[in-house]
This record gives sequence, structure tokens and C-alpha cells, in this order.
Amino acid sequence: MIPAPFTYLRVGSVQEALDALAEYGDDAKLLAGGHSLIPLMKYRLATPKVLIDISGIAELSGVTFEGDSLVIGAATRHAIVEHSPVVKEHCRLLAYTASLVGDPQVRNRGTIGGSVAHGDSASDLPVSLLAMDAQFTAQGRNGTRTIAAADFFVGFWQTALTPNEVLINIKVPLAKQRWSYQKFTIRSQDWATVSSAVYGNAVALGAMADIPIRARDVESALLQGADISQAALLADHNTSPSSDTRASSDYRRHLARVLTEDGLREALARN
Ligand SMILES: Cc1cc2nc3c(=O)[nH]c(=O)nc-3n(C[C@H](O)[C@H](O)[C@H](O)COP(=O)(O)OP(=O)(O)OC[C@H]3O[C@@H](n4cnc5c(N)ncnc54)[C@H](O)[C@@H]3O)c2cc1C
Repeated sequence: MIPAPFTYLRVGSVQEALDALAEYGDDAKLLAGGHSLIPLMKYRLATPKVLIDISGIAELSGVTFEGDSLVIGAATRHAIVEHSPVVKEHCRLLAYTASLVGDPQVRNRGTIGGSVAHGDSASDLPVSLLAMDAQFTAQGRNGTRTIAAADFFVGFWQTALTPNEVLINIKVPLAKQRWSYQKFTIRSQDWATVSSAVYGNAVALGAMADIPIRARDVESALLQGADISQAALLADHNTSPSSDTRASSDYRRHLARVLTEDGLREALARN
């Protein structure tokens, strides 16, 4: 439970972070809240030689507007997203989802950017961001690029970010949509065994594959006029849930159907 030795480097700007990534290459890892990376380092599943701490970069933190999007800095802590009056007013799904991440200690250190960059399918925020068709802004030494949520999560703990990029912000389209986030846990304040986010006609699932996924068959059935019960039965179509100490694959499939039905009903009631 003791990490391998590493050098700690605190940077004050995105440019300094990019310079450090270029200098140390594969030996380096960005550190935001440390609530996913440090546990991995303690298990020696990650052994970076250099940690580049980006948590103090002011330009990476906060919530602003840009056109018809809400822009959330990548190093914005979960607690800020949870309690921000602006997020609560314009994107209730995101504020609510943030409120379910771990416990208050986790929410006071962990960041939205760290959560999505970690790329864990059982994390909460990626599921809701996928349902909302969020856009992710990444910056490298050659400029910035935008990655759609649907293209961002590419494999088990893998994202479309390259090792020399910094995730700058997350843009959420402003739209008043009915919403719900359902999370099943085997203990309170735990990662999701399965989760389901509903935003308008979009449905996304967590822990039903290596990456968060959209329940496209449910969405199509709803568009074609299926009732909620019938549509929700399709929630586990095209999924590949694992069996592990939390749940069997079959139980996860059952949860996906039940949580999606509950979520669709809750969202409808909010209309
Ligand atoms: C006890 C405990 C309970 C938890 N419970 C939950 C839970 O219920 N639900 C949930 O969703 N999560 C949970 N988490 C995880 C938590 O949400 C983490 O905060 C989050 O997953 C990672 O964010 P971080 O800022 O701590 O990232 P870090 O751990 O600092 O970094 C994670 C990864 O992202 C990379 N990274 C970080 N920021 C950037 C960036 N701006 N650009 C590019 N790469 C970046 C890092 O290099 C690293 O690879 C829990 C964590 C703990 C310790």
C-alpha cells in the first residue's frame, strides 16, 4: 500500500503542465484530486515517476457560460459542481449526479476532469455527461480539440485523451430536459453496481460495459412510441456487463432494466 517513489511537481498554468508532460513523457502523470490515481499508485497498478499537480491551476476551475453551453473547468471539484447555483439551475442532472459521488471528503478533493479522464465505467459523472452529449476540450502543445462524449470513452480505463494532452473543460449544452439519475450500490457512498442516466430522450448506462454506453435500443423504442415498461426491457441490449464481487452479469442486466424504467418514470414525472 505504499506507492513507488515519484517526484512531485506543482504547476501553475496549463502551459507549464504541457511543458512538463513534454519533458517527462510516459514517466509523467497529471494529478488532479488524486482520488483515483493515488489508490492505483498505492496498489502499484500505476507507477509514474513524476506527478504533475494541476489542482492549483486557476484557469482549470470554475463554471462559466459559453454561448448555449455551460463550461465546467476540468479541475472543478465535485463539491463545487454539486453546490453551484448555476449548475443547479441550468443542469440539475449534473449537480445531482455530483452529489452521489463517494462521500463529502471525496467530493471535496475529486474533480470532474479527473473522473472523466480516469475513464471508469462505474463512475457517476461520465454516465450523465454521455446522456447530455457533453463535449470535452483537450489541449496539447499544438492547440485544442473538442471530443464528443460519444467518442471520448474508448476502452477499460481508456479515453481518447493522448498522454501529452490536458483536459481543459467540459461543455454541457444548455437545455431544459426532463432528467433522472439512478444509481444502485451495495453499500452507501459506493461506486455504482449499475447506473442509468436519463436526459430528454437519451439514456446512458454505467458499469454495463468497459465504457459508459448509450442505451440506443431504449431510445429508439421510445421514439417509436413504446411505453416506458416495454422500452426499459431493452436496456441491456448490446451491453457486456462483467461478473465480479459486486454482482453477476445477469444481475447487472436486471438492474439496467429496472433502473432505466425507474429513471424514465422519474424523468417523466419531472416534465
Ligand atoms: C473512497 C472513494 C470513493 C469514491 N466513490 C466514487 C463514487 O461513488 N463515484 C464516482 O464516480 N467516483 C468515486 N470515486 C472516485 C472520485 O470521483 C475521483 O475523484 C475521480 O474518479 C478522479 O478524480 P480526481 O480529480 O481525484 O483525479 P486523479 O485521481 O487525480 O486522476 C485520475 C486520472 O485522470 C487523469 N487526469 C486528471 N485530471 C486530468 C486532466 N485535467 N487532464 C487529463 N488527465 C487528467 C490523471 O492523470 C489520472 O490518470 C471515489 C474515490 C474514492 C477514493
